[in-house]
Amino acid sequence: MDDAGLRKSLLEFYDERKRDLPWRRSSDPYGVWVSEIMLQQTRVDTVIPYYRRWMERFPDVAALAQADEDEVLSAWSGLGYYSRARNLRSAAQLVREQFGGALPDTAAGLMELPGVGEYTAGAVASIAFGRTEPAVDGNVRRVLARLLDEPDPGAALLRRRATELVDPERPGDFNQALMELGATVCTRRNPECGICPWQEGCGAFREGTVEERPVPRRRGKVGERTFETVVLRVEGGKAGAAEPRFLVRRRPGDGLLAGMWEFPEFRDLEGVSWPDSGPGRVAPSVGVRLAEVEHVFSHLRATYRPTLIPVPRAFATPSGWRWADREELAALALPRAQERILALALTA
Ligand code: SF4
Repeated sequence: MDDAGLRKSLLEFYDERKRDLPWRRSSDPYGVWVSEIMLQQTRVDTVIPYYRRWMERFPDVAALAQADEDEVLSAWSGLGYYSRARNLRSAAQLVREQFGGALPDTAAGLMELPGVGEYTAGAVASIAFGRTEPAVDGNVRRVLARLLDEPDPGAALLRRRATELVDPERPGDFNQALMELGATVCTRRNPECGICPWQEGCGAFREGTVEERPVPRRRGKVGERTFETVVLRVEGGKAGAAEPRFLVRRRPGDGLLAGMWEFPEFRDLEGVSWPDSGPGRVAPSVGVRLAEVEHVFSHLRATYRPTLIPVPRAFATPSGWRWADREELAALALPRAQERILALALTA
C-alpha cells in the first residue's frame, strides 16, 4: 500500500468511526488549542467535562487572559500537570498583548506560546488552520513504529514519516484520524489488526512483530513520600459566621503543584512564629487523626496523614497563608488530594 492508499484508507476509517467529541464540533482555534493542552497525558473521557466547563467559564482568549490565576487553577483542579493551566493563561495574555488577540496560524508561530511544543503546534496548526503539519504524540508514535516495523524509532524518523504521510487536503482530519487509530485500534495491548485500515501496509503485521513494537520506554522509578498534614480549624470566626475556617498556604511558584493551595505540614509550622499560638502548641498528639489520603503523581506516590486540630481563634498569618471557609476554599485552587482532606475535615 503506497502513501496515497494509506491516506485514503485512514480518512475513510475516520469518517466512519470518528468519535463525537465536543472540541470537534467547531474548528475555533481557541477551543482546539485548549482541547489539545488538556489531552496531553490525559484520557479523552476525563477531559470532556473539564473542557465543557472551561469553555463556559473562559469562552475565548480574552476571557482567559483576564482571569486570575486562582480561578484558572481552580477550573483545572483534578486534571493534574497544573503547569499546563498556568501556561494556557500566560499564552492567552501573550496572544492578547502581542498577536492582537488571535492565535498565530502557523506551527512556528504557535510554538512561541508557553506550553506549546512541536506536537501541539502541529495539531492546532493542522486542525484549526488547515496547515499541512505532522503531529506525533504517543499514540502516533506507536502506530508509526508498527507501520515501519521499527522497535524504537527516533523523533527525527517519526517526524519525517508523519510529514510524508499527512494529507495535504485534510491535514487536521488526517492527524486526528491517526491519533484515533492509535487510541482505539492500534492500542498498546491487544491491537485490533483485523479491523485496521492499515493492515495491508503494516510492517509489524506482516512480520508478526506487532506485540514487540515499539519497545516500552523505561520509566523513572516512582518515589514515595508521606506528608504529615495539619488541618487547623477555627469555628466561625468572622462576625456572625457559622462556617468553620481552615488554615491553608500557597505552594511556591515552581515545582510540583506550583502556586496551588494546601493544608500545611507540621514542619511548615515549626518555623512560623504565631503571635499567640506558638509552634510548640501545634503537635499531632493534640489533634484527631483523619483517614489517610493517597495520590499518585507522575513520579511520586504521596500519602497524606492529616490531623485535625481545633483552635479557639484565628491568628495572624504570614504572607501566602490564609484562613478560609468552605466557600472561599472552593474558589481557591486546591489540588484533588487537598479537596479530599477538606471533605474529611468537614465531616469529622
Ligand atoms: Fe496497528 Fe495492527 Fe494496524 Fe499495524 S495492522 S497499524 S499493528 S492495528
